[in-house]
Amino acid sequence: MKVPYIVDIKENSLDDGIGIRSVIFFKGCALKCVWCQNPEAQNVNPELVYQPKNCIHCTPQCFVHCPNDAFNYPNMVLNRSVCILSQCCTIDCPADVFSVAGKLYTVNELVERFRSNMIFYRNSNGGISLSGGEPMMFPEFILNLIMRLREINIGIAIETCGLFPLNSQTKKILEQVQFIYYDVKIMNSNKHIQYCGVDNVTILENLKQLVKEGLVTLPKNNSELKIPASKPLLVPRIPLIPHITIKSDNLKEIAQFLKSLNISLIDLLPYNPLWIEKAHSIDHPVSYPRDSWMNDKEKLSAASFFKGFKFDTFVI
Ligand code: SF4
Ligand code: SF4
Repeated sequence: MKVPYIVDIKENSLDDGIGIRSVIFFKGCALKCVWCQNPEAQNVNPELVYQPKNCIHCTPQCFVHCPNDAFNYPNMVLNRSVCILSQCCTIDCPADVFSVAGKLYTVNELVERFRSNMIFYRNSNGGISLSGGEPMMFPEFILNLIMRLREINIGIAIETCGLFPLNSQTKKILEQVQFIYYDVKIMNSNKHIQYCGVDNVTILENLKQLVKEGLVTLPKNNSELKIPASKPLLVPRIPLIPHITIKSDNLKEIAQFLKSLNISLIDLLPYNPLWIEKAHSIDHPVSYPRDSWMNDKEKLSAASFFKGFKFDTFVI
């Protein structure tokens, strides 16, 4: 079984589905979206996170520990090409200048961790959200985890980019979850390759298949977004990325595609620029230049575009 690294577990989230949720961010994604909000979750392997601005210039221990002299103090130069991720630099640094994105957990450890939150999940209709990265890259592990969480009545939501083989194993995963948040980003396949690194053929085909085979429930509006439902509730998510996804021809094609599947409720995810600092800390390329938040006008314009096509938008 491929055991995934996990970059973070966010507790008490109110932004990743209904109710109070714990969100697991798996490390690894087959897409490489240029605006990716979690760049540290793209690579499947652990990565050194380096934040030199945190340095308080204590008696420096960091370079003393590094077996490969990858770090130069006081110049604060990190040579990643010789870093072997021994993590020695993380041992004594009192300022979190060095840390590692990517930690292994067993299914047991995760289940025990979440068991203590059960009362919050139950009282709020919340549960666990599987996010990333792309959780469906690790089907055996997440199926195992989901089955164990279902045994103790913890509800699951999954956030997916849609790029996975739709087979008996992944269908079994989807059958067990309560909510599926399914990304639809760019309809033109060449543009999808340009901005996300791969084409969108499987992503769109999987969504069509899930609907065609009746494997999901499509809530018409927010009031239908209730559990228990006989099948997982599917809500497409559209990231609002200035100059890329929110171009009117793309929005129009998305609206027409979703309408053709009888989908009426969607979730709009406004761009946020916080990823840029995370990207710098792992030396991840920053090719998308927008470093400011979306303003209300941009958000309202996208929302009213979809309202014009009679979509309801998801409200947490
Ligand atoms: S141990 Fe951390 S805080 Fe101290 S000098 Fe090194 S990087 Fe800076
Ligand atoms: S699909 Fe999501 S996690 Fe993967 S690269 Fe794109 S934005 Fe990042």
